[in-house]
Amino acid sequence: MASLATILRAGGLPLLEARILAAHALQVPRVWTHAHENDDIDAQQQAAIELLFARRRKGEPVAYLTGEREFYGLSLQVTPAVLIPRPETELLVELALERLGEIPSEHPCVLDLGTGSGAIAIAIASVLAANRPGATVSACDASEAALAVARANAARHGVPVRLLCSDWFAALGDERFDVVVANPPYIAGQDPHLEQGDLRFEPRSALVADEGGLGCLRAIAETARAHLQTGGWLLMEHGYDQGEPCVQLLERLGYAQVSDRRDLSGNPRVVQGRFDPAAARR
Ligand code: GLN
Repeated sequence: MASLATILRAGGLPLLEARILAAHALQVPRVWTHAHENDDIDAQQQAAIELLFARRRKGEPVAYLTGEREFYGLSLQVTPAVLIPRPETELLVELALERLGEIPSEHPCVLDLGTGSGAIAIAIASVLAANRPGATVSACDASEAALAVARANAARHGVPVRLLCSDWFAALGDERFDVVVANPPYIAGQDPHLEQGDLRFEPRSALVADEGGLGCLRAIAETARAHLQTGGWLLMEHGYDQGEPCVQLLERLGYAQVSDRRDLSGNPRVVQGRFDPAAARR
């Protein structure tokens, strides 16, 4: 029998990752692994821990191994069918909530396009449920497997999100929204980052877009004009080097008050623009 301390240090992983994975295998909170380092671990449990360590050494993301990732203070289920929620995407939630705060309607409608795990829609819905009970949050994804994860996450947090299977706006008829948000795929197909780290294991359909990474951003910005209320806002996450092209795209399409915001790392990350056909003609 080996002690937990020995197993953790023999894993060939950063100690924090080793603790997260061991805690998951043992079904205990991570803090337990600090208090019980000198405990002997039985052979079956040791094998379960070492299996996770071996998968991690081959590159599998920690979030897929534990099936969990925290986003906006909410613990979310994740599977390889969905992109792992990123901290920088919390900026998109913050900005969407700011723009919603400026919408006077008693019944503001929000749409999250390509929702994946549901992270963005559920974070927004959890805030609105407390502050704007008349609001509705819709979310769509083209992948049924992703929608199943989003459905489980919405149920886990008890927030009402209307989930639809839709390729961007395709299933939305002539519906219009006050705020449309999206974290679409925006990485160019030849980007070497795709062969590194977690990205190797995430769905390519959630990562890669044509037109050098701008294809989905462009398609969404074009079509969103038919699905925004006058005065409504489009907000999209984009790559660190896509701030300028995104601002130009929205301006060319006639959006007003276009601006780009930086994430906590200082990278341009979210473009926002207002659908205002009258302003566009002036
Ligand atoms: N932000 C992710 C990354 O660069 C990509 C997510 C996306 O394409 N929307 O790792």
